Amino acid sequence: MTDIFNEDRPHDECGVFGIFGNKDIDIVDETYLALYALQHRGTVGAGIAVNDNGNMNVIKGYGVIPEALPEKDLSRLKAAKIAVGHVRHSTKTVNDRANLQPLLMRYIYGQLALGINGALANYSELREQLHRGGAIFQSNSDIEVIAYMIAKARLETATFEEAVLKAMTEIRGAYSIVMMAPSRLIGVRDPHGFRPLCVGKLGENYIITSESCVFDSLGGEFVRDVEPGEMVVIDDEGPHSYKANCGGETNLCLFEFVYFARPDSVLDGMCVNIARQRAGIKLAKEHPVEADMVCAVPDCGVDAAIGYSIESGIQYGVGLIKNRFIGRAHTSRKKNAEHIFRIKLNAMKSNVEGKRIVLIDDSIVKGDTSKHIVELLKKAGAKEVHLRISSPPFKFPCYFGTDMDDTKNLIASKKSVEEMREEIGADSLGFLSIDGLHEIAKECRTGFCDACFSGNYPLTVPKNHHEDKYLKKIEI
Ligand code: SF4
Repeated sequence: MTDIFNEDRPHDECGVFGIFGNKDIDIVDETYLALYALQHRGTVGAGIAVNDNGNMNVIKGYGVIPEALPEKDLSRLKAAKIAVGHVRHSTKTVNDRANLQPLLMRYIYGQLALGINGALANYSELREQLHRGGAIFQSNSDIEVIAYMIAKARLETATFEEAVLKAMTEIRGAYSIVMMAPSRLIGVRDPHGFRPLCVGKLGENYIITSESCVFDSLGGEFVRDVEPGEMVVIDDEGPHSYKANCGGETNLCLFEFVYFARPDSVLDGMCVNIARQRAGIKLAKEHPVEADMVCAVPDCGVDAAIGYSIESGIQYGVGLIKNRFIGRAHTSRKKNAEHIFRIKLNAMKSNVEGKRIVLIDDSIVKGDTSKHIVELLKKAGAKEVHLRISSPPFKFPCYFGTDMDDTKNLIASKKSVEEMREEIGADSLGFLSIDGLHEIAKECRTGFCDACFSGNYPLTVPKNHHEDKYLKKIEI
């Protein structure tokens, strides 16, 4: 099934959440509500695992939170002291139920439940090694490989913490992980810090999660970011930090600031909403144009459109209306694609007719959505449509936990800006520069990854990624 409006947009793989409850709290309820706050990071499936004095239980399902975690399933989860939750956006072609998380596994020292946001760059290498050592996999998710690496390391180490630190020296790539061991909650962020991870409190209870917006949604407070390379462990005595893998080059994904993260989140010291407005301001400086109105592709282009309007002095207005009640409209019949698109998004004729419009969007992947939107505005009477994009052109695949892992889906890898403009049908087209993108989050405490725009990968990336036998669909 295809989500018509969202398919032509990059997607982050997942959001993670974990809570260690000391008192006065319903762990299952809080986890359920937290996953709502993380829904933007994945709508393909969700799950919650709870730990009731060492006995772990998990529920998971497909769809957005109310579909994936219905009341009848939630009521099966016993009151517990620790819980982890996960929202998933699948990548590649793999959409098996076995890939839904948290992954609940049993190994020689008991149970573990884990969820990841990210992807391993050496996934195939490690999986091959584990296979040859006799491992049997249920899924083809990165987290299962990581779980095996930890279980294997645990045979050679004195403590679980040492095992995780050892496994971190062997796995390579983007990973922010939340996991639950029999008596503790653990958060791990990869040494490059590709994906965000932070710690907060809800009363006396500790939380580890992908984004700070979760604390606001639950009525809690942000404590701090997990540092790139750091492991945070929370047990009855409180939080403990392990920094053996910290201190190298850091590379937070710049696209988190453009699109992935929620605007009310703060990532490594930088407010996402401010970064997006700055992107609009920079875009107006780099690609000015004479026009009557600035409008946004809802909702992702709004902050940058406000920034463009502030800098250019061109009035901001609503040019497109998104149907907020349709949810995730799906169709398996291609002939309905355009129809569904029109149901989801409409031009505001009274606002755009006869006007020169600056249309702001966050990105162009395949270009189909941009083409539809420009057509909508022109049919509604817009005199000119000048498309401005608050990120640089996507020219290179991403191997660090997004679904942009193949150049064949990236229009900018095949066409020049002028060729793209022509295909989309805009009167002009301008992208934010890579230097401009770096500037939008300059207060951030980490370095950045800009590989999908520049081709400069911070890690060695897999060769023949799509020929990899382990990335193909596994029938369970
Ligand atoms: S390649 Fe692009 S999308 Fe992927 S982590 Fe780097 S900046 Fe983010």
